[in-house]
Amino acid sequence: MTNSETLFARAQLTIPGGVNSPVRAFKAVGGTPRFIARADGPYMFDVDNNRYIDYINSWGPMVLGHNNQAIREAVIKASENGLSYGAPTEAEIQMAELVSSIVPSMEMVRMVNSGTEATMSAIRLARGYTGRDKLLKFEGCYHGHADSLLVKAGSGALTLGVPSSPGVPDDVAKHTLTVDFNNIDSVKQAFVEHGHDIACIIVEPVAGNMNCILPVPGFLEGLRTICDEYGAVLIFDEVMTGFRVSLGGAQERFNVMPDLTCLGKVIGGGMPVGAFGGKREILTHIAPTGPVYQAGTLSGNPIAMAAGLCALTQLKAEGFYDSIFKNTQAIADGFQQMADKNGIALSTNVAGSMFGIFFTDEKVTSYKQATSVNQAQFNQFYHSMLSEGVYMAPASYEAGFVSKMHTSDVVDATITAADKSFARITA
Ligand code: PLP
Repeated sequence: MTNSETLFARAQLTIPGGVNSPVRAFKAVGGTPRFIARADGPYMFDVDNNRYIDYINSWGPMVLGHNNQAIREAVIKASENGLSYGAPTEAEIQMAELVSSIVPSMEMVRMVNSGTEATMSAIRLARGYTGRDKLLKFEGCYHGHADSLLVKAGSGALTLGVPSSPGVPDDVAKHTLTVDFNNIDSVKQAFVEHGHDIACIIVEPVAGNMNCILPVPGFLEGLRTICDEYGAVLIFDEVMTGFRVSLGGAQERFNVMPDLTCLGKVIGGGMPVGAFGGKREILTHIAPTGPVYQAGTLSGNPIAMAAGLCALTQLKAEGFYDSIFKNTQAIADGFQQMADKNGIALSTNVAGSMFGIFFTDEKVTSYKQATSVNQAQFNQFYHSMLSEGVYMAPASYEAGFVSKMHTSDVVDATITAADKSFARITA
């Protein structure tokens, strides 16, 4: 038995499924999750002393690479003054000022502890602000695990809330409308039927939870126009895309401004942090200035603020993203070439430092396409890459993340592993 196998067996006795977040259990691909001992730069090391080039990067946050020295030092320094006060600090102002200077549409910012809290709070604010109950989301977009957002579409373009988890009451789910990503007609139709009851549209401007799907030209602009027409709030969930597809997020990259933005992952530099914010006129409806309640014992935690401030300050350096974007494109191109060489149907998508590989020969722009890929080939490829020391997400519906530390030699090693792995596919 490997050390990971021993730990996994032990973990399952006291932790449901042995993990604290389901995808870590390797259910989709089978096998034993690797228990991690440490991480550095582009690498993670498991408890059996195997080294992996990491393309999960803690599911997005580690855009600077693992164990960034400056962040580590900032955390140690902050911790010398105590770990939590539950009272305001200057670091929170610095964070709000920095975020609003970086993310174009964010005039005001409220810190929370996770992406889920950010989306949940943004939706409550949108509902409180508009006085409407319904929200519109897209099939295949994930916004955390709050009740209203754990709802998916059934068949047909528009489904009136079917919960995707037991425990989500039908009475809650019925307020969530789900339509097709990249299909503006399905959005228009929903608004024709329910427009004056819809408080908000929430969207991942680049979808990163059905692999990696870019918005087709006009899609985000179309959402903006529809929200303006019906007085609904447009929420960009940039928990994944923020500080990743460009410094200012997808809104900067595609030049479409939402009313509210949700942030998480990168903003905490690896600590548990989220944030939501946007137009001053809407944010002033939050308590204590307004009636919409939202709070958090550890929100704006001084250690988390120190880590986040240090991370964002590094990202602001001139040309910071140039090499990451170049290397991300090189990874996608390399995968494509090796798949072609080995006669495997593959297509790729790239958005800044996010990428997706799809076992299909179609260019993927929809949830339907993303879920129709060759799963058996993905699983074989996944396990071969793992055995070659490349750690990719253990499910075909997850985006890949590249960090500043994935230099060209790391990229080359990844592509060599991909060549071997495509050659081994038999399905
Ligand atoms: N929104 C998006 C786009 C996400 O990708 C995630 C998590 O993966 C969340 C929200 C939820 O964030 P958290 O896991 O920090 O609660």
